[in-house]
Amino acid sequence: SKITKDAILEKAKELNVKFVKLQFTDVFGTTKNVAIPVEQLEKALDGDIMFDGSSIEGFVRIEESDMYLKPDLTTFSLIPWKSEYGNVARLICDVYDSNGKPFAGCPRCNLKRVIKEAEEMGFTMNAGPEAEFYLFERDENGFPTLNSKDKGGYFDLSPIDLGDEVRRAMVTSLQGMGFEIEASHHEVGEGQHEIDFKYADAVTTADNILTFKFVVRKIAMQYGLHATFMPKPIFAKAGSGMHVHQSLFKKNKNAFYDANAKYQLSKTALYYIGGLLSHARGYAAVTNPLVNSYKRLVPGYEAPVYIAWSEKNRSPLVRIPARRGVGTRAELRCPDPSCNPYLALAVTLKAGIDGIRKKTDPGEPVNLNIYHLTEQQKSDMGIKSLPANLSEALDELEADEIIKSALGPHIYENYMVAKRIEWDEYRSQVHKWEIENYLSIY
Ligand code: GLU
Ligand code: MG
Ligand code: MG
Repeated sequence: SKITKDAILEKAKELNVKFVKLQFTDVFGTTKNVAIPVEQLEKALDGDIMFDGSSIEGFVRIEESDMYLKPDLTTFSLIPWKSEYGNVARLICDVYDSNGKPFAGCPRCNLKRVIKEAEEMGFTMNAGPEAEFYLFERDENGFPTLNSKDKGGYFDLSPIDLGDEVRRAMVTSLQGMGFEIEASHHEVGEGQHEIDFKYADAVTTADNILTFKFVVRKIAMQYGLHATFMPKPIFAKAGSGMHVHQSLFKKNKNAFYDANAKYQLSKTALYYIGGLLSHARGYAAVTNPLVNSYKRLVPGYEAPVYIAWSEKNRSPLVRIPARRGVGTRAELRCPDPSCNPYLALAVTLKAGIDGIRKKTDPGEPVNLNIYHLTEQQKSDMGIKSLPANLSEALDELEADEIIKSALGPHIYENYMVAKRIEWDEYRSQVHKWEIENYLSIY
């Protein structure tokens, strides 16, 4: 059932929509939007809304800056909170260049390009994210603090869990935007939460992650709180991950499931895992894009450090949840919610299908806590680590032609330049830790 332009115009009238936000992301995953009054909706649906791409980070130079927004009609949705000036709806858009072609710097168009490659091999990807976040108080000027007044832990109940009410408001708004929410709970950290929604095809899931972050932030604000998806806001406390469960389907069947195979995992599943492992050092700069991302990837906080797979333990990079049959899937545990979801799905899908093409053996599962192995044991078992910091991750990305091709030259080059600058700014700072450890001694 294809949604038509007329159906959207009709729906907008019926829902008394006064404004429409046209949304897309820059290369770094920040959601951008242009709001148009509903009178412009028809023009927008025709893909005739133009904007200046040179002002968007990582997009284009000034000489080639005219960009067009092509709304995806299936993403039309009412934003479920009231504004005194009337109802607001949103549409998620692809970005096209002035020649009417998908713009090479558009992360959403780029994901579609990689999906097409998988489709040529007969596969469609399903993905389900688990985004964690912290809720912090704001100070008297409205700026976020690191305080939560919350002493709750994993799965705790209200009233210990102050986030209970806020989370319910978030879930209700997400449902209002068509989300199927599977669960919401307090996470391990004080003030840390998780809300899980149903998996979908890769583009829909990336769209959903944008919407999810937008809703979570907005509702937190309505409660006077700040929601942060920063990967490691507090030293020595749990970081916030965004594990991504992924599977491939072929002719409507889960291609990862084989009832008669060892672990009941098909060859396709094993090779896909092999690809996820062998390219992990290359795609980390995309799934874990910030200087801060690497402060999360340390032993002891259920975040992965070591490149291995497991059916049980939560310390390796890839875990295979117990579900089999249609729910057979691999949980990739490194991504964090600061990543651009379109790019993260593009690089991990590419890694997986490269594993299938090359029949990459993932080795035996490591069903023990790798945090507790010695360096010697890890090296005997051939277990490598994820990059230790953003700089190392960028070097690894530079060396991985497969992952580079999953970004395409335009995105790759712009990403690299900006991220090298980010690292350089960081490495030349003098940190609090250095003052504490060196100032009085040297
Ligand atoms: N917070 C952990 C992380 O950084 C994950 C906890 C969990 O297993 O849900 O990935
Ligand atoms: Mg979790
Ligand atoms: Mg998980």
